[in-house]
Amino acid sequence: MKHYIIPIFLPELACPNRCVFCNQYSIVTKQQLPKKEAVIQIIKQHLQSFVHSERCVELAFFGGNFTGLPEKMQRDYLALAQPFLESNQIQAIRISTRPDYIDAKRLSVLKSYHVRRIELGMQSSDAEVLSLSGRGHTFEDTKKATELILNKSFTLGLQMMIGLPGDTIKKSQKTAADIIRFNAHETRIYPCVVIRNTELENLYRTGTFQPLSLDEAVSQTAALHEMFEKSGVKVLRMGLHASDDLNGAALIAGPYHPNFAEMVFSHQWKKRFENVKIPKTDSLQIVVHPSQRTQAIGYKAENKHYLKQFAQKVRFVSDNSLPKNEFKMLC
Ligand code: SF4
Repeated sequence: MKHYIIPIFLPELACPNRCVFCNQYSIVTKQQLPKKEAVIQIIKQHLQSFVHSERCVELAFFGGNFTGLPEKMQRDYLALAQPFLESNQIQAIRISTRPDYIDAKRLSVLKSYHVRRIELGMQSSDAEVLSLSGRGHTFEDTKKATELILNKSFTLGLQMMIGLPGDTIKKSQKTAADIIRFNAHETRIYPCVVIRNTELENLYRTGTFQPLSLDEAVSQTAALHEMFEKSGVKVLRMGLHASDDLNGAALIAGPYHPNFAEMVFSHQWKKRFENVKIPKTDSLQIVVHPSQRTQAIGYKAENKHYLKQFAQKVRFVSDNSLPKNEFKMLC
């Protein structure tokens, strides 16, 4: 079954919050919320482009704060998706929002329009990190929101960030442990970067804030991914989405890389190889599950290069019978 997402981006036009890493509120922009006809057009265009007939299509309202929109606007957006749900062209609706914009009334609106998944920008469970990041909500808000969401049988996603002001590896691992403890179904891990025209840019330029290096972000994310994987929490994304902004002048500093997730998997495999004793030999064959062969070879073949110090010839082969994350080494 092929899973497709139809993304609808709702810009944060009047976000009352002041997250230090975000430039949404400072941008003087002519961006407008998409009109009903435009959203229908986007849905139709995506549906026409899908090739797999065995598919699950999800309409996703991204943008951070769906339930912060006026209720009428929420209803209007959700209403236009209903004919597509009724005709089974779309199977699910997802929204993302903030923990302090969840309550019983908002959830009942979402439920009545058959929203299935709710993602919350939790970012951290540490009070100091939340405060220094200007999030404007507390860990308690997240806890309460997750309980309400799960009690109403929605699928719950909790997004986290690493490398925020005041953050440490230990605090990030505590955040991941809380996401697991809260029984979230899904998560996303975003490294904090410094964007132009943000409070974080000021803190960075005055030496008050230092972002993680790319290596630090990759190794921290790799450890968090392992925690989630062991606990059955699905990791939907690692690293920020590639965008013109991040590839261009808006990025001031920080661990942005368009191949971030690939680097994380590569790092995990490197650790696995480093943890075993490898004899010096002429030829080395590494057997892995077919879905992980590319990850095992590594980003820019870094793991293959690493293994070449032990053998002149290194080959990676696939075997369906091998469990994921395991490998066999044949000399
Ligand atoms: S990240 Fe913070 S400031 Fe930016 S749009 Fe979301 S809530 Fe508003």
